[in-house]
Amino acid sequence: MPPAPRRHAPPRVDVLRLGHRAARDPRLTTHLALTARAWGAERLFLHPPDTELAARLSRVNGRWGSAFEVVGVKDWRPTVREHSGHVVHLTMYGSPLDVVLPELVAQSSLLAVVGGAKVPAAMYEMADWNVAVGHQPHSEVAALAVLLDRIRGTPAPGALPGASHAIVPMARGKRVVEVHRP
Ligand code: SAM
Repeated sequence: MPPAPRRHAPPRVDVLRLGHRAARDPRLTTHLALTARAWGAERLFLHPPDTELAARLSRVNGRWGSAFEVVGVKDWRPTVREHSGHVVHLTMYGSPLDVVLPELVAQSSLLAVVGGAKVPAAMYEMADWNVAVGHQPHSEVAALAVLLDRIRGTPAPGALPGASHAIVPMARGKRVVEVHRP
């Protein structure tokens, strides 16, 4: 589905991931971080912190560009309270995304929150919107990807700032070229 029509720049988005279990789900959270980065989010606040995951994303930036940051947080509440934007918490129990979308695209800055196995009840109270991407359980990666695609659109081809490499889109095969910085 195309992103909602808008008259101004899409909101800047930071993401907060609650309940990361470094030993159990490094791959899932890495995919969440890659998704946030690819759709142009600025930062992933990761609770609890995981320095290895942050280093992995920094290596991705080195090759493919962007200034995306993984910021470890020991206590997630100040991150939510002190964020400059409004807070959209993704949960299958929330309001339908289609209903809330016009309000979301009108924001200049958003903090998108996704959970893990169990989200503290306080998060539902602290959010400006609790939003469902369909009302069936699926995945934080899928929920975030759909949200970002609807509010920011699908990323266009081309190298991101600072990239050393870029993909040349093609119907078959794979082509990666080096980017020569001035
Ligand atoms: N009971 C959870 C819930 O509230 O959505 C599902 C747990 S799921 C393993 C982990 C995370 O995926 C949730 O905290 C939520 O952020 C996201 N998620 C899963 N299904 C979703 C849906 N239908 N809509 C929005 N977010 C969803």
